[in-house]
Amino acid sequence: MAHIQLRNIKKHYGQTEVLKGIDLEINDREFVTFVGPSGCGKSTLLRMISGLEEPSSGTIFIDGEDVTREAPADRGIAMVFQSYALYPQMTVWENMAFALNIDKQPKDKVKEKVELAGKMLKLDHLFDRLPKALSGGQRQRVAIGRAIVRNPKLFLFDEPLSNLDAELRVDMRIQIAELHRSLSASMVYVTHDQVEAMTLADKIVVLRDGRIEQVGAPLDLYYHP
Ligand code: ADP
Ligand code: ADP
Repeated sequence: MAHIQLRNIKKHYGQTEVLKGIDLEINDREFVTFVGPSGCGKSTLLRMISGLEEPSSGTIFIDGEDVTREAPADRGIAMVFQSYALYPQMTVWENMAFALNIDKQPKDKVKEKVELAGKMLKLDHLFDRLPKALSGGQRQRVAIGRAIVRNPKLFLFDEPLSNLDAELRVDMRIQIAELHRSLSASMVYVTHDQVEAMTLADKIVVLRDGRIEQVGAPLDLYYHP
């Protein structure tokens, strides 16, 4: 269950106002994509939701609770970035188990969660590999696996596929859509790729110059970048 409400979110860096009053609702289990020209504020808005940065003003509610000043770790959110940021000296298994071990979860629980995520992401034959021995798509799947094992109620993706070649992007897009169907989580997904935005989203948010220009279901929008 994750229901997100953004109320009049503004963000400025020095004199520059990057977000100019964002009001947005993300429903439980909804898949929302953020699109818009480079520099329009997509990543900044994602960082506000994640808690990596605080807005200059405005309020963020998750499941009715004001989390505007809460740390990222307290929001039940997982972020997946385009740079995979895997630990290079750890195997796939260790990368995926790491956060759970830090959290002192029981060994059998950790095993169960990593095995399940490994199956979902077709990584189970790669558990003993180091990241350097993986393809780009496999690394991206490990990054998603690390997020999944923590059962987040909300996933934030910041252009997760933009480093992959065209064919892999299509594969991964299908896998992310499958994950969304099988996990009971909401997803917010920033992308430059119009096809990704259209095929994944329940709702597309078009940003322009720090404001929401349009919001709607893919078929109700005509998006021209
Ligand atoms: P997008 O993700 O849509 O490409 P960003 O959210 O990354 O856009 O950036 C929006 C604007 O905010 C850009 O003009 C960018 O230069 C500016 N910006 C982002 N982060 C900072 C920062 N930490 N300090 C100053 N300006 C920033
Ligand atoms: P430790 O460092 O205490 O040995 P590990 O993280 O290596 O802990 O292993 C914890 C559990 O995870 C063990 O029960 C082991 O069976 C399982 N495990 C570790 N690596 C793998 C793997 N590559 N494939 C399947 N299970 C694994």
